[in-house]
Amino acid sequence: MFNRKKKIEVNAILDTQIEELLKKTSQYEDLVEGRLICSSCGSIINPQNIGIMLPIKNGSKIKFYCDRVDCAEQYKLDHE
Ligand SMILES: [Zn+2]
Repeated sequence: MFNRKKKIEVNAILDTQIEELLKKTSQYEDLVEGRLICSSCGSIINPQNIGIMLPIKNGSKIKFYCDRVDCAEQYKLDHE
């Protein structure tokens, strides 16, 4: 069974900080227009389902994973 109780570790980051960060990487428009995609399941990322934000390319872009447990697991597989 899919275990919903398992809590995902997310950096405590405020929405305004997310907005500022995404404006720096020019991805804010992408978020607003629904063009940011979870790197694991392909779901559209929105401010409510951001699970993991991972700076890539020396911090010039951010890679996203949504808040699904499966995607957090995929993140671990990809980065451990
Ligand atoms: Zn996902």
